[in-house]
Amino acid sequence: MQSRRFPVFALPGRALAVVVAVELATALLVVGDVVRVATGAVAVTPHHLATAGLLTAAGVLHQEVSSRVERYRSRVASGSGTAALNLGSLWIATAALLCPTPVAVAVAVVSYLHLRCFVYPAHANRDLYKIVYSASATLLAVHAASAVTDGDVTLATTVGALAAYLAVDTVAVVGVVVLSGVLKIRDLPRLRPELTLETALLCLAALLTAAMSIQLWLIAFVFPPLLLLHRALFVRQLELAARIDGKTGLLTAATWHELATAHLDEARVRGRSVGVLIVDIDQFKELNDRYGHLAGDAVLAALARTLRTTLRRRDAVGRFGGEEFVVLLPLPHTAPGESARAELGTVAERIRAAAEALRVEAGTGPEPVVIDHVTVSVGGAVFPDHGHHLLDVVAAADAALYEAKRSGRNAVRLAKRRPAPAGRAGAEQTGRQADRDR
Ligand code: GH3
Ligand code: MG
Ligand code: MG
Repeated sequence: MQSRRFPVFALPGRALAVVVAVELATALLVVGDVVRVATGAVAVTPHHLATAGLLTAAGVLHQEVSSRVERYRSRVASGSGTAALNLGSLWIATAALLCPTPVAVAVAVVSYLHLRCFVYPAHANRDLYKIVYSASATLLAVHAASAVTDGDVTLATTVGALAAYLAVDTVAVVGVVVLSGVLKIRDLPRLRPELTLETALLCLAALLTAAMSIQLWLIAFVFPPLLLLHRALFVRQLELAARIDGKTGLLTAATWHELATAHLDEARVRGRSVGVLIVDIDQFKELNDRYGHLAGDAVLAALARTLRTTLRRRDAVGRFGGEEFVVLLPLPHTAPGESARAELGTVAERIRAAAEALRVEAGTGPEPVVIDHVTVSVGGAVFPDHGHHLLDVVAAADAALYEAKRSGRNAVRLAKRRPAPAGRAGAEQTGRQADRDR
């Protein structure tokens, strides 16, 4: 077949086995559904058809109205490795609760056909296997939900059916994404917004089921809260994207600055010390040139994780830009002076040693490259010893960093004296001078 245009065959063996198993199981179940309808084993009433018709129409309308926001939202959430979320689970899960399984399956099939043909036609063949797999997972979830209710919708069966729907759909999709190596288990928390939205949609499905059991036309009332929920989640995701650096999961420079300023203001009032460390990867350009930018990105992400695990929860870690990180350490129990410097030096040395011990697997080929010679240089300074304003303390740490680079890299240096009144500009001058000296 057209294996080159159908990249499912590029999936690793275990992921491919799960994809084939899920699609085969779904195909068998759907054939069973068709046979049961054809032989009259399932009674489909006009009320079922009216319910399914309304849910299908509402699903199509919903997808049309929200497709622009959803396409944009899934791009903001990129890196999660999943295709754009199918918002149809509200309508499909409701159909699974209110209609016989084959009818609910028909609602899901129409929803996916509409998605494939009209909402994401541009993805066409490139993502066809994802849509086919995602549809199969949903059909499996419909069968799981129907098996729980078995035509009897009570509080207990509704909760059970929706839980089964969520579990089957999520495990099937996330499982393959993890097995295919697109997402590591430790990165799963990144899928939280998708899972929150899916759970909220299923809660709405429970309400919609109750409403449509009274009068079918009550379906109209679900639209306003649904669209609002979707947009609210999108705004929250945008806010997060502005605060968190996508590549490393650390604070962006602007957010770090805001947080650090607040910490310094508090320390000033309470007469406490605050440490600032700047961590810069050594010879990172060389690493990029040798292993490629993707490997460089993997090193950035690994070092960010190391920083987070090496530091305490209250320390603020940010990405200053490129291969430079910045850490703010409140030192509440340390009086200004030598002891603050000593504590900062201990933490800086811990970071340097942890970076040196780092082993980063990079590359997607059959033999992943292991990068185990990452080193960092660290510069540190203390408030108020090296400056009364954040920029002065950062400038002092910056100058100390250049000292560390000048000493041969893979080293820690702390500021010894207060920087020149020119502040950051003065330190940058010192830095550039040091750069030229190298
Ligand atoms: P030094 O030891 O003096 O710090 O040398 P260096 O090579 O680390 O420093 P330099 O400033 O010369 O190079 C920094 C490199 O970082 C250049 C740039 O391509 C790379 N870089 C910046 N941002 C990223 C990124 O997001 N991903 C990757 N892979 N590389 C990046
Ligand atoms: Mg560097
Ligand atoms: Mg640098």
